[in-house]
Amino acid sequence: MKISLRIIQDLLDKSKKQRSELREAYALVPSSHCRRKALCCSLLPEMSLVEALAAIQCLSEMDPGIRFRLTGSLVQYFFLNSVRITSCPFLVDKNCLIYENRFFGCRAYGLWPRHYYNELATRSHQTKRYNQEQWQNLGISLPQEVVDFQVSYCPHVKPDVGSSVDDETLPHAADKIEILSKQLAPWHESFRHTYFLDLSFLLASLIFGLTEAVQMKFAFVKDYVKTGNQAGLSEIVGNLPDVFAALT
Ligand code: SF4
Repeated sequence: MKISLRIIQDLLDKSKKQRSELREAYALVPSSHCRRKALCCSLLPEMSLVEALAAIQCLSEMDPGIRFRLTGSLVQYFFLNSVRITSCPFLVDKNCLIYENRFFGCRAYGLWPRHYYNELATRSHQTKRYNQEQWQNLGISLPQEVVDFQVSYCPHVKPDVGSSVDDETLPHAADKIEILSKQLAPWHESFRHTYFLDLSFLLASLIFGLTEAVQMKFAFVKDYVKTGNQAGLSEIVGNLPDVFAALT
């Protein structure tokens, strides 16, 4: 099921309670200190719909110039993240522009027990290998270094209290967020199954249409693999509409 701008506006209107409770769920993640190396920001994290809505609300309230820049970064990220390792589109000069609203994945990074983090990383790598096969079936070989790229476990993050986080705390917070997001049915499932929990895909679909965004991605990836060229994309990114400006 496609998510339109009108549906996003409806969801923003109806999800005030869930977005407020999202902050309570985030507060379950132990506060921590890190060296702000921004290693965790090498990818746009997966997120649930309720988290995507919080980020969209944040984008809609931003200075138009910054929003335009982030819109371009998100669209570029969607089109080329299969062939190029780029940092999270929200990271600018080592600063997260939505830090107060950053996603659960960002908050939990570095706090997972190492064995749990490694399991998550293995699952993520399996998904990327599967995607690589799908691209291969279309005649496109993705660069192996991009397929194999993983954000490594970070030893620099420490909880403010105690030396480590127990095995239940983070899954418990993740479950709470999932429950909140499920209250936004049927769009919660649509964001998972149609947009693969990817805000950059949702944004590209809002701008170009769902099918068109996928077709364009195919063309840009093919061109990039063949020529290393992204000139056509740069021109498109320079002329994007400000889709989130109309949201209230
Ligand atoms: S949302 Fe912010 S904290 Fe999270 S990965 Fe992106 S830049 Fe880093």
